Amino acid sequence: MDGLHIINVRPLGGPSTTLTIQDGRFTGEPPRPGTPILDATGRLALPGLIEAHTHLDKSLIGMPWFRNDVGPRLIDKIDNEREARRRLPIPPRRQSLRQALQSVGHGTTHIRSHIDIDTECGLSGLEGVMQTRADLADVVGIDLVAFPQSGLLIRPGTAALMEQAVRLGAETVGGLDPCAIDRDPKGHLDVVFGLAERYGRAVDIHLHEPGEMGAFSMELIIERTRALGMQGKVVISHAFCLGSADPALVNPLVEALAAARIAIVTTAPPSRPVPVFTQLVRAGVAICAGSDGFRDTWGPYGNGDMLERGMMLGLRNNLRRDDELSLILAAITTVAAEVLHLPDHGLQSGCWGDLVLVDAETVAEAVAQRPGARTTIRRGKVVAVNGAARHRPRDTDEA
Ligand SMILES: [Zn+2]
Repeated sequence: MDGLHIINVRPLGGPSTTLTIQDGRFTGEPPRPGTPILDATGRLALPGLIEAHTHLDKSLIGMPWFRNDVGPRLIDKIDNEREARRRLPIPPRRQSLRQALQSVGHGTTHIRSHIDIDTECGLSGLEGVMQTRADLADVVGIDLVAFPQSGLLIRPGTAALMEQAVRLGAETVGGLDPCAIDRDPKGHLDVVFGLAERYGRAVDIHLHEPGEMGAFSMELIIERTRALGMQGKVVISHAFCLGSADPALVNPLVEALAAARIAIVTTAPPSRPVPVFTQLVRAGVAICAGSDGFRDTWGPYGNGDMLERGMMLGLRNNLRRDDELSLILAAITTVAAEVLHLPDHGLQSGCWGDLVLVDAETVAEAVAQRPGARTTIRRGKVVAVNGAARHRPRDTDEA
């Protein structure tokens, strides 16, 4: 744990002041003798950005451009990826290291990554990303979700691998479209929630299913959450059904999500219906954001910049007022920390010394304009300068 005394800094756009980090946490005490000084030159300090949903095991960053000829359906993308994995290959340790460091350069101090678990790749993705997590232990926090990307029940053997993944080091149990992919919502949720209950883990389910099908799956997830007393421990990612235009379908779901304290993670894609940000915030549903996979076989877009993701959230939801842009910042920092159970995330005394310095006048400007050349600090240690992570992989790190 490092100490750092930051001068000429403006927390959240407030007046210029100093921030002191000692033993990895912000403190109100004066800096100890010998504490390094960093002159922020009037830049804004934001809490460390949180990537609440990505796929570290399969980015193609640093590899030759992948020509994408994938078909339009979800299953086309899943099959396309499995085929590409055989052909390329995509080493999870090397690729997760590259992606994580790119995110650190953008100001991210914690990443939640879903990791493919299936009968073809087995636990290799998890093992590779766990190695990266160890290599970057003092650079960025990483928590892992065991994710049945190819389906859980339609591929016999996957449930046993999911259990092994949870035992090996995945903190959270993932799931995927209980109706559309597995075609057996009860069976799918039996496995997911069964594992979570047995090992005392949280749940984070990809739910792409639209309209009434998605609403049906969501109701089942809410029922399970209640029945098992898992309020506050369940996340639904994407939740496209909440973007349905029918209030009679959406409104009761939003109320039930709030009552069961189920959180939503959105990527705010321009191409799909998405949960309505302000409706969820007003109803008391925690909503945070993620990049999802970027520069991978699924699609060529994205760069892991959570301020850019925040801008997309604003554009997608027609948010333009400064107070609305402050809500977006919360979604990619403090609210995300609550959803991911990361205590003490913020700029107050006692919180972890995780922050990013950006050249902006206000929080709203930081979100809307995404200034570059950021400085990232984690636990009081400067981990990225000028938008680039300082960590240089050893040869063995990329093996
Ligand atoms: Zn995903």
